[in-house]
Amino acid sequence: MKGAIVAVGREILTGKTLDTNSHWLAGELMANGIRVKRICAVDDVLKEIAQELSHCFSLGLKLIITTGGLGPTEDDMTLTAWSHVLGRDMVLNPQALEMVRSTYQGLYQMGFVDTPEMTLQREKMAWMPQGSQPLPNLVGAAPAMLIREGDRIMVALPGVPREMKAIFYEEVRPFLIEALRERGERLVMVEEVIQSGFNDESHLGPLVRKVMESMEGVYLKTLATHFGPDVDLAVRVEAWGRDEEEARDRLKKVVDALKKGLEEAGDVGD
Ligand code: AMP
Ligand code: MG
Repeated sequence: MKGAIVAVGREILTGKTLDTNSHWLAGELMANGIRVKRICAVDDVLKEIAQELSHCFSLGLKLIITTGGLGPTEDDMTLTAWSHVLGRDMVLNPQALEMVRSTYQGLYQMGFVDTPEMTLQREKMAWMPQGSQPLPNLVGAAPAMLIREGDRIMVALPGVPREMKAIFYEEVRPFLIEALRERGERLVMVEEVIQSGFNDESHLGPLVRKVMESMEGVYLKTLATHFGPDVDLAVRVEAWGRDEEEARDRLKKVVDALKKGLEEAGDVGD
């Protein structure tokens, strides 16, 4: 499955916040055999968010995950953007409303908020595109959203990294694993980093490429650093399989092939 991550938030574009969400999510998706083809950051502007989502559709990407823009304030517009792109009305989702209500009830009981009342701002977090599945947010207030339409999966996660990670682990990851299994696309990825003994990427690159192209289900990447006699360039080797055993088997084969190639090229690494 191929996917995109869209980080929504002006703070990313103004350099105030580093987009760690996309970085983290990309690693998680990759580890679960989902190939991320696009990462983009967009402003808190409805039209611009919707344009980016449409663009991801037009690229044929089957999984689109947004982060940010789910909160109670006016500039949180991610779900409205989703509703525009999908041509679905925004409706007050009863399950999401219950999640928001019980979150504020709990916060009130702990003395963290002045009132448990369902204000308009709080209610806003429960408005979602028709047919959304709200995902509980046990760390924050705004529920996340999941929509499945045809073979597309769309997920809207909060921007706060702690909330985003918790919902991904609790709700999204298990859902994706099941969806991949249903499609016969479930893949497990394993990796290893090999020290090449080379200090020149332009010399190492063709060798690495040759090994990569000789096998299915593997990906090799030289990790560039700087130039110098003391440099020992590392190569990250990734292998996929339908299960851990197949992935490990491939990893072993490709690592052996890489080491052999490195030896033959005259520079011996570990
Ligand atoms: P939001 O959910 O859009 O209201 O975002 C809440 C907060 O989460 C922001 O003020 C940022 O501090 C943080 N945040 C939002 N997006 C990201 C991101 N892509 N990476 C890291 N932190 C983020
Ligand atoms: Mg925001």
